[in-house]
Amino acid sequence: MRQEQFNCDICGRPKQASNHWWRVRAGNALHIYHWDYFGEDGWDDSIPTKHICGQECLQRLVQNFLDAPFGIGSTISTTEDIQ
Ligand SMILES: [Zn+2]
Repeated sequence: MRQEQFNCDICGRPKQASNHWWRVRAGNALHIYHWDYFGEDGWDDSIPTKHICGQECLQRLVQNFLDAPFGIGSTISTTEDIQ
């Protein structure tokens, strides 16, 4: 089993075991998956993936996508502080 550390690509929060996270493939389209949908070893991280810690950050990611004319690619800002 992998012990990889993930941080939210929006707010930077580290993933805890009990968190309810999503993985998102974002480019010209958004593909949103529940974190455990593929299991820990079933996800291909060689494909650019955003790791999202919760609904608030997911909504922010979607808003970034809606605001970007050609998709957000790998250029999502992570500098905003979420309290
Ligand atoms: Zn977050």
